[in-house]
Parts: sequence; structure tokens; C-alpha cells
Amino acid sequence: MLISIVAPCYNEEDVIERFHEAVQKVAEDLLPLGHDMEFVYVDDGSRDRTLLVLEKLADLDARVRYVSFSRNFGKEAALLAGLRHAAGDCVVVMDSDLQHPPELIKRMLELRAEGYDQVIARRTRTGDRFTRTLTARLYYRLVNRLVDVELKDGVGDFRLLSRRVVDAVVDLTEYNRFSKGLFAWVGFPSTTFDYENAVREAGRSSWSMRSLLNYGLDGLISFNNRPLRAALHLGFALLLCAAAYTAWIVGAAIINGVSTPGYVTIITALTGLAGVQMIMLGVIGEYTGRIYYEVKGRPHFLVKATNVKRAKDLIP
Ligand code: UDP
Ligand code: MG
Repeated sequence: MLISIVAPCYNEEDVIERFHEAVQKVAEDLLPLGHDMEFVYVDDGSRDRTLLVLEKLADLDARVRYVSFSRNFGKEAALLAGLRHAAGDCVVVMDSDLQHPPELIKRMLELRAEGYDQVIARRTRTGDRFTRTLTARLYYRLVNRLVDVELKDGVGDFRLLSRRVVDAVVDLTEYNRFSKGLFAWVGFPSTTFDYENAVREAGRSSWSMRSLLNYGLDGLISFNNRPLRAALHLGFALLLCAAAYTAWIVGAAIINGVSTPGYVTIITALTGLAGVQMIMLGVIGEYTGRIYYEVKGRPHFLVKATNVKRAKDLIP
């Protein structure tokens, strides 16, 4: 069986060699079991020497394929490129910063042998900051109400996919890719196992609080139209409140006579409702924005350098 390792790399010059050593070691262990391995590294427009290191690795090891983007297109695009190129009977998707322990690949293969199409590694949150853990918990609770595929906390892109799952994911051509959701959407028999989270070996995480927030919003909105439905419900609820309040005011005026104060009520209602309207416009805007990007039909990434011969095929 051929196993492809797909790893996106963005400014990982410090770890990529160590990563390659680690997966090579796993490959050696798997060889007696009759498993071959190929390594598909996608340089996501790194600003450091990542590409040079990858070229060197490819010179030393014929199983290394690399694809380098013309600029930073994001991890989702890098994953797509990697999956498109992976030729394996199954594909292991993992980060190249050694946060995903390569030893777990063996465990994944065992579970794959039991017939699962997706073997998902779920990281525990030990060692994470408390606030981060808490926001993640709350976020997943909210997301699972709004999105119709099930997203689990701690589940990321570290997983083994069978050929048919890879084909299914690659066939989803949407521009706004939220892999976590796409993998869940594809389905097929899946299983999850836990592992202890490792700290980054070198380099820095490219996630700021802001990008996490945006990622979270993407997850909420890129999946279905339930947020629109929620906006609709909110609108109805507000309308009902307004009707009740009007009835109350009119009733009071009939019983007690008309009194003029109400400045605070007016200002509060005005600003409150304006806020709600802005939010709803924002929700609609998000969807329209997504349509805009889909309609443009631009490629997900552009390739600058690669040792893959059929690089042209990578761009549909
Ligand atoms: N990555 C990428 N493109 C980006 C950002 C990140 O390909 O624009 C890669 C990065 O090299 C790493 C993986 O995605 O292999 C996860 O990124 P990171 O470690 O920054 O995220 P975290 O582990 O903090 O979630
Ligand atoms: Mg990381």
C-alpha cells in the first residue's frame, strides 16, 4: 500500500528537515509491513528558505514531492494542492511543525485496517491556556447548533483519509474551503482517537486571535444557510417584542392619559435595532461575498515551482 503524507509548510525552514526525518523514520518502520510512503510538501508562499530546504530534501530523497505557491494562499489551498497531488491509497494530512506526532501514523494505519475511511486524531487541550480552552468549548457548542455536520473540539486536519475520501474532498471545488467541515461533510466510516498535544518545536504559529475569530466565523457561515434562518427568527422575535411594547404604551396612554417622556426608550430602541440590522446585513453580506468569490471562479492557488511533472494538472 502506498501512503502519502501531505504537509503544508508556511515559513517552516527551522522544522521541516526535522519533520522529514521523523516521517522517514516512520516510513522505515512501515516498510517491512509492505507499506511505501511518499511525501507531498506544499510550500504556501513562505517568505523564508522553506522552498530551498524542500528542494534539497527532494534531491536527497526521491519520494519527496513539493509544490510551491506563488504567494501565501492559506493552509486550505495548500491542503487542496497536497491532496490533488497525493497518489497514495491512503493519505495522512498533518502539519509540518511537528505538532502532529508522526508516530501516530502507525496507530492510524491499524484503525484503517479495521475498515475506517477516516481516522481522526483529536488533540487534548492539556497545556492550552484556560481562556483558549473555554472559548473553544463555547464555540463548538454554538457551531454545532448552527451547522448541520458535526464538528468536534480538538479535531483538526491531522487525519488519515482513504482514497475514496480524498477523491470526494478534491471533487468539492468550492472556493471558500473550511476543511474541517468538508471532511465532516464527506462522511464515510470515521473514527477518532485522542493524543496529547505537543508544543510547536520551532517557528511561530501563524494564528493570531483575529485570524482565529475569522476562521470561526468562516466555519459558521460557510456551511449552510442556518445563520440566515437565525437572523429571520431574531427579526420575528424583535417584531413581537415591538408589538407587545406598542400595545403596552397605547394601553397605558388610554388608561393614564398621554405622557410625553420617552427619550431614553427611543434612543435605546433606535441604536439597538440599528445594531441588529447591521448584524443581519453583515450575515447577508458574508453570503453574498462568498457567492462573489465562487462566481469569479479563480484558481485556489498558483504554482511557482515544483518537482511534480504534471504540475499543470494541479490547476483545474
Ligand atoms: N500553514 C500554511 N499556510 C498558512 C498558515 C499555516 O500552510 O498560511 C501551515 C503551517 O506550515 C503548519 C500548519 O499549516 O504546517 C498549521 O499552522 P500553524 O502551526 O501556524 O497553526 P496551529 O498549529 O497554531 O493551529
Ligand atoms: Mg502548529
